[in-house]
Amino acid sequence: MDGTPAVPEPAPAGEMSGLPRRSVAFIGSECYPFVKTGGLGDVMYALPRALVRLNCDVRVILPRYACIPKEYQDKIIYRGEFYMDLGRTGRNYYVGIMEYIQDGVVYDFIDNQEFFSAGNPYISLVDDIPKYCFFSKAALSALNFMGWIPDIVHCHDWQAALVPVYLRTLFQNTPVGRARSILTIHNLRFQGIYNIPTIRYWSGLPDSVFNMGALKQGYEDANMLKGGLAYADRITTVSGTYAQEIQTPEYGEHLDKHLRYHSSKLRGIVNGIDTAMWNPETDPALAVNYGLSNVLEHKMENKLALQKELGLEEDESKFVIGLISRLTNQKGLDLVNAIVPQVLDGNTQIVVLGTGDKQYEDAFRYDEYAFHGSFSACIQYDESRAHRIYAGADALLVPSRFEPCGLTQLNAMHYGTLPIVRETGGLKDTVEPYNTFTGDGNGFTFDRYDAGLLLDAINRAKTEYFMNRYHWDEVVQRDMAKDVSWENSARQYKDLYLELTQW
Ligand code: ADP
Repeated sequence: MDGTPAVPEPAPAGEMSGLPRRSVAFIGSECYPFVKTGGLGDVMYALPRALVRLNCDVRVILPRYACIPKEYQDKIIYRGEFYMDLGRTGRNYYVGIMEYIQDGVVYDFIDNQEFFSAGNPYISLVDDIPKYCFFSKAALSALNFMGWIPDIVHCHDWQAALVPVYLRTLFQNTPVGRARSILTIHNLRFQGIYNIPTIRYWSGLPDSVFNMGALKQGYEDANMLKGGLAYADRITTVSGTYAQEIQTPEYGEHLDKHLRYHSSKLRGIVNGIDTAMWNPETDPALAVNYGLSNVLEHKMENKLALQKELGLEEDESKFVIGLISRLTNQKGLDLVNAIVPQVLDGNTQIVVLGTGDKQYEDAFRYDEYAFHGSFSACIQYDESRAHRIYAGADALLVPSRFEPCGLTQLNAMHYGTLPIVRETGGLKDTVEPYNTFTGDGNGFTFDRYDAGLLLDAINRAKTEYFMNRYHWDEVVQRDMAKDVSWENSARQYKDLYLELTQW
């Protein structure tokens, strides 16, 4: 091993006193700011930082993809290397360990150019299955190699789902075999399914795990996530409602029966947002910064700046609806497409920011052409524009078909923008429906996946906005004051770690 030992900087003593210490290895395929394609990247960034403040010693283990920006590639330092056999390939593979420490969290990057040299983390299953078999095994081997044996191995999504299986088979009688394991489902749709011979070849797992109770699925397939769920000591997902939904055929993605069987170890813990990164008072992307005390006046200025930036009619009295999303079948975009003409009544504008399936990109481009000045389609990935839409819009749409947690509604509320959401998964757990009689609630909701019900929710929002502005403004302030930070959720993860390691 090279260099000085990487000891995490201790968190301020005051916050830690009396809290039991636990060590946790996070293992997953993406983490902001190194590589992010969705909510998983946000969680892998923010949750370890929140856990450090709760007296956890956290290492995040990631692939060293070639697409990690140069500014970070230049900062990571070499920690060591070894060779590891892999599956039935008959070969020994190079495993390099590169390290970076920030805010008390240690990041260990697993280096191997054969597997991680592509421009994107995910390519196709043909490439990704061998890549993540290698990564899962290399992550556990690296812990043994470094002599850093965590109390908990916390794995994320299918890419790290073989870790709990390895832990109880090939690694059971090695030092890391004493760790307990947690597998978190961020999105059940993606599972890592391929034929048994291929997964057996790359993983080198014993035949005993390729049975219907673990990896085997159907007649000839192996499902990496299914195996991880069977072997993990605990399973979590990112909201309580999604934890229930995935046990039903409608949301279970063919694993509902398996999840019902393992329901005693399944629990939902809702995500938070990093309130240092998402802070309208200091956000450098905004035209004007604002806080709870001056949101009402400064939101208008941000709205006007947004309208100008996007070529919309500049008029602060218009009701501006934002939508920031991957443009895929999951996100309820068919409902949005069906009602655009009815929503654009002359007093309303819509702003879409997203990339994804061509059918949705084209449909939104058409709307921009057809409703010039009232509809803006930004078909791009742009972090800073996303921040300006959260600040400048009055409402944010999240009409998802399913939504494990969802972060955009949390960002929106934190910026005083009212969410209009379908009551599913984490949307249901984080947005309390507005009640016209009591004035309680955080946003506007609808239940069935139906365009008419979405239109009705938007119209209820408009009625409050145009006819009852005093009440609307009260909700804006309530949403900004709502605690959407990680603190509470990180505490629940810490409790889970303690529950698994009672000594
Ligand atoms: P998912 O993980 O399913 O994509 P989430 O709501 O959990 O959805 O997380 C989406 C995250 O990605 C949010 O932080 C959102 O602001 C961001 N995001 C999505 N699309 C874009 C885009 N086109 N430009 C900038 N940020 C985006």
